[in-house]
Amino acid sequence: MSSVKVRFAPSPTGKIHVGNVRAALLNWLFARKEGGVFMLRSDDTDQARSTKEFEGGIFRDLAWLGLEHQEFARQSERFDLYDQAARWLKDQNLLYPCYESAEELDRKRKLQRARGLPPVYDRAALDLTSEQRSDYESEGRRPHWRFKLSQLPVSWEDLIRGSVTVDTAAVSDPVLIREDGQYLYTLPSCVDDVDLGITHVIRGEDHVTNTATQVELFRRLISFNGDGAMPSFAHHSLLVGADGQGLSKRLGSLSIDALRAQGIEPQAITSFLARLGTSDPVSPHTDIDDLVEGFSFSKMGRAPARFDLDEMKQLNAKILHETPFANVADRLKSMAVNEDLWESVKGNIEKLSDAADWLAVVHGEIEPVIGDKPYTDEAAAFVPDDLDESSWATLVEQLKDKTGRKGKQLFMPLRLALTGQEHGPDMSVLFRMIGAEKARARLQGKRA
Ligand code: GLU
Repeated sequence: MSSVKVRFAPSPTGKIHVGNVRAALLNWLFARKEGGVFMLRSDDTDQARSTKEFEGGIFRDLAWLGLEHQEFARQSERFDLYDQAARWLKDQNLLYPCYESAEELDRKRKLQRARGLPPVYDRAALDLTSEQRSDYESEGRRPHWRFKLSQLPVSWEDLIRGSVTVDTAAVSDPVLIREDGQYLYTLPSCVDDVDLGITHVIRGEDHVTNTATQVELFRRLISFNGDGAMPSFAHHSLLVGADGQGLSKRLGSLSIDALRAQGIEPQAITSFLARLGTSDPVSPHTDIDDLVEGFSFSKMGRAPARFDLDEMKQLNAKILHETPFANVADRLKSMAVNEDLWESVKGNIEKLSDAADWLAVVHGEIEPVIGDKPYTDEAAAFVPDDLDESSWATLVEQLKDKTGRKGKQLFMPLRLALTGQEHGPDMSVLFRMIGAEKARARLQGKRA
């Protein structure tokens, strides 16, 4: 096994959606390609908003998608580590207490903007005397804690974006601990990445600035640990809608849960998200392992990746058209769809449950659509008692000879009468499955 170890680190504060899953999938693909470890980390330090239900949902969704993890960690069980690191950073004066209220900070930022300055925290708290601090404390103010950046440029070789430099002088010292003592995401994430031996951090480009501050924090934590290494970074572009706008407002309806409920297959999601924003075309893969070989960061562009739900639905249909019965036998069983029916109708469905609609057409009762009664009545008389797959061609041939009809005029009234629909699977198969009795009745315009 290689030394590669990556993590997908969602916060269990909601359902995971296509945006999260793209990050999960890229991590998973990279780990698989490198023969490394894919870890799931539940970033549940916000205990007011994190729930076990959401965490369970993440487990279920990843398993459903085929993104199995080899290791798991839950941040709420690792507070001791964060406390140790925070204590050490405070001792080093790298984590300093600030007493400004949210309104005061807001006022400062407004003033800076009015003067044409970037809204970067002015580090006023560093100048507080211990007397001023105890005055604040006796007023009942609790400090929040900021990490002291070097104010130097930070550079890294991003596996997707190439060489990246961020000047930390243009970035506010990040708050690592809130007034109420809660750790914000940065410290636990870096402590864990070092402690758990994460070799590559793969995430969205909305984290690029965070990465600059985290690189500095990583350096400190590695020296505190006396062990560990700086991970490599890959920041992928974010998804936008078909209209080019950000997806954030629509993500609720693009949760994995919602897509599953709409009949989207997991393979459609993984096939689509694995190739979106890459130089490879999107194509259907019924086996997620087939996506591994073609995966490479070098194929990923910096432009936003266009997510079009309709395109995903088309891919879903293509996947179903190629899905062997054995892969879906359990789900079809509950709909009473057998192999014969599946193989006959799968080329004409958009979602798996459509197979049940065809089952109803074949074995249930339908209202035939009759446009040309004399013709379909005539056809009924030609239906033999035992139907096999050649019976349809024979029937059509006989009717052609008898009536002189051709093409659509010849077969469409029959299809409409027999299935009630203009489109559908090959009639030779449907006709055989519908059987002589039902076929005659439907051709005569009777509900059957
Ligand atoms: N919990 C973080 C998030 O959901 C993880 C980001 C990261 O990959 O570092 O944004």
